[in-house]
Amino acid sequence: MSDVPKSHPRYLSLTLRDTIVAGVEKGITSIHGLIAHGRGEAYDYLIGEKTQPFAKTAIRAAAVMLCLAEHPIISVNGNVAALVPQDIIELGQILKAPLEVNIFHTESGREQKIQQHLQNHGASDVLMPTTEGQLSYIDSNRKFVHPEGIFKADVVFVPLEDGDRCEALRKMGKDVVTVDLNPMSRTAKHASVTIIDNVVRALPLLCHEIKTLSENATTQKTLAHYSNEAVLKEALQHISRGANG
Ligand code: ATP
Ligand code: MG
Repeated sequence: MSDVPKSHPRYLSLTLRDTIVAGVEKGITSIHGLIAHGRGEAYDYLIGEKTQPFAKTAIRAAAVMLCLAEHPIISVNGNVAALVPQDIIELGQILKAPLEVNIFHTESGREQKIQQHLQNHGASDVLMPTTEGQLSYIDSNRKFVHPEGIFKADVVFVPLEDGDRCEALRKMGKDVVTVDLNPMSRTAKHASVTIIDNVVRALPLLCHEIKTLSENATTQKTLAHYSNEAVLKEALQHISRGANG
């Protein structure tokens, strides 16, 4: 880790950079993941590096959608594994949903390293891609999924998703819940619920929301009133107003 002083105005952002770099060094994050992270950082800057009301609205809808799912699944890539291993495992435990490794760049046993990394953090159920389960409408190796996981799922929670696969999952009739800082990405536009926030802030809030929901009655009404389009529009308006000014 670099020695960023706590007093530095960009301390949190720089600490996250260290975490993602450490992910690359451990072999769980792809070097390409650094570029995706950089794009995320830019949008985080634009939204003011805080969870905004449009993200809270989406988190509520996401919690309901995931609780109502018959077969929810949590798809994990190298950035998510590096940034929020504990929170993603907690989410799986609360939802009783398995985690499934699904990545674009499969160099040097990275899938196994991610699985091991999650298990080291206490995950019990980590599904891996197989050739028995294959997604339609997609050509990259991200089409290889687990028959009991993403293939069977009705709701897929997939933070920091690639647009191609999000579209493929939707075409297959699955609901997609994503976390993506860019309200203009294809993922953000095609997902059923898009949480426009940094995954490090959004996941603890989502876990909390689900815990509170399951104590009360889970309501369909939240979903009936939810518009992902409206959430994306609010985010864009927020950005154009100048979050920091
Ligand atoms: P798309 O394929 O959906 O059009 P893209 O090609 O622009 O998106 P990808 O590299 O496929 O981008 O996916 C990475 C996405 O993850 C980007 O939209 C980026 O803003 C977002 N992102 C990166 N880091 C974070 C983070 N920590 N929290 C939330 N979102 C993030
Ligand atoms: Mg992409």
